[in-house]
Amino acid sequence: MTGAVIRVSEIFGPTIQGEGVLIGQPTVFVRTGGCDYRCSWCDTLHAVDSEHREEWRPMAVDDVWSAVVRLSGGVPLTVSLSGGNPAIQPLGPLIARGRGDGYRFALETQGSVARDWFADLDTLVLSPKPPSSGMETDFAKLDDCVAMAAGHPTTVLKFVVFDDRDYAYARDVARRYTSLPVYLQPGNHTPPPPDDDSATVDIEGVMNRMLWLVDKVIDDRWFDAGVLPQLHVLLWGNRRGV
Ligand code: SF4
Repeated sequence: MTGAVIRVSEIFGPTIQGEGVLIGQPTVFVRTGGCDYRCSWCDTLHAVDSEHREEWRPMAVDDVWSAVVRLSGGVPLTVSLSGGNPAIQPLGPLIARGRGDGYRFALETQGSVARDWFADLDTLVLSPKPPSSGMETDFAKLDDCVAMAAGHPTTVLKFVVFDDRDYAYARDVARRYTSLPVYLQPGNHTPPPPDDDSATVDIEGVMNRMLWLVDKVIDDRWFDAGVLPQLHVLLWGNRRGV
């Protein structure tokens, strides 16, 4: 038993990873509670907003791991560490525990906090937030995150893009880290109110933004970039726990 306590918003799955480099792959999600950002369009406010703090359970590593093993039936798969910002939680012991059982780990973060245990991941998704989020990127910290991964996990960049400014930001950041694969996804403008479990999403708006984004990438001959929708939003809207 390790002493690390992880603040958990929800553990669910198996389902499929809905975005980025692992899109379509079966996964169990461990969503941690708490974030050092507050993006204007955040679609996981239940794991960010302090109003929901009461729902976040402090869990021992053994308890988190038991839940993952139970959900996956003991069959190793990729565990997606998400949030909130999972990098602010002590996840190193959980990763070590799971890898010992043959599981793989992917973590997505905005890149504001670097951890030495990033090097123990299988996949690190750095998703710096563009201007439409209202957040400012600290590039020294993002550099630290890339350095901490030290080339061990597959490290990729993922950008949510709503408009031309976001696109230009993604282009600039990608030029800073030329060795990292890039994934772009159209933003979903309609985060539900925190307590709304509805599937309501402006699918037409998302798909129009996707078409616009494809045109941008092709016109720019940005042939290293992958353009993907949020598959889970198309399938299930903004529902939690799928
Ligand atoms: Fe939400 Fe992610 Fe922004 Fe945190 S970094 S506020 S989880 S979108």
